[in-house]
Amino acid sequence: MSHLSEPASLRALLDKHGLRLSKGLGQNFLINPSVCPRMAEASGAADCAGVLEIGPGVGVLTWELAKISPKVVAVELDKRLFPLLDETLGSCGNVELVQGDILKLDLGALLREKFGGEKICVCANLPYYITSPVIMSLLESGLPLHAVTVMVQREAAQRLCAPPGIRACGAVSVSVHYRSRPRQLFGVSRGSFLPPPKVDSAVIRFDMLEKPPVQVQSEALLFRTARAAFAQRRKTVANAVSAGLALEKGQVEEALASAKIASTARAEQLTLEQFAALADSLWDITGKANLWEGEGI
Ligand code: SAM
Repeated sequence: MSHLSEPASLRALLDKHGLRLSKGLGQNFLINPSVCPRMAEASGAADCAGVLEIGPGVGVLTWELAKISPKVVAVELDKRLFPLLDETLGSCGNVELVQGDILKLDLGALLREKFGGEKICVCANLPYYITSPVIMSLLESGLPLHAVTVMVQREAAQRLCAPPGIRACGAVSVSVHYRSRPRQLFGVSRGSFLPPPKVDSAVIRFDMLEKPPVQVQSEALLFRTARAAFAQRRKTVANAVSAGLALEKGQVEEALASAKIASTARAEQLTLEQFAALADSLWDITGKANLWEGEGI
């Protein structure tokens, strides 16, 4: 597989299969031979029952994961890559390829079917256009995961690891810090990819927590409250949450007061503990327990 770190060899392979890379699918393939082994090792794949990879591309990271993991399941959206992947990974008996959109698959069912509910690792060089939704869905859905190691754009890495309560944070920070301990591992320059993207990347790892650092009555409501608050982050939490959750502004103000949060606060000023207190107050005040729980996150 190391020959695919030569741009000419990778181009020749793509040409052989009549493939043109899709910018829309974030197809920037790794050609720096040191990155995949380092990432695979850092993912903890060697110590897990298996690995889920998202977007194998031509299979360079998959290959490294397959060397150290008992089983690799790789989900790829682009159907055109499958004949090529059969060629590059055909000799790996422990790799299963699944065609589908990672955001639309029933991941709980997939992991049960492929790994029998055992805790696994996720390792992926994520397509940049779905970074946050993929990470939110992996972290919020309570899947049996040991750790999630992903390559993302460098700015996104900083945002994802930022704790709630500081300017760089976003809705995803609430999910990240509720479920995991995030770490930035190493940077990857834009020249490590074919074609080179406009920005550098970084590899980050989320170690899943056994127990969240705060307790809430409804996790679904915590995540929805954070999403609503950050959807209009320049507005006050009172305005943003009342718009996002279709509640009376007075109800949200009452919930903020009960959670001892200033009515003028903005989303980026709230810590995880304050988001939890706000979600619990909203739960109590709206009395819509069944309604919130019934809705998907
Ligand atoms: N793992 C390869 C590497 O490191 O060279 C490829 C990484 S490339 C940045 C992202 C890959 O994700 C592409 O192969 C792309 O086709 C795939 N992809 C894009 N959107 C996807 C989706 N919604 N679900 C699954 N795979 C997706």
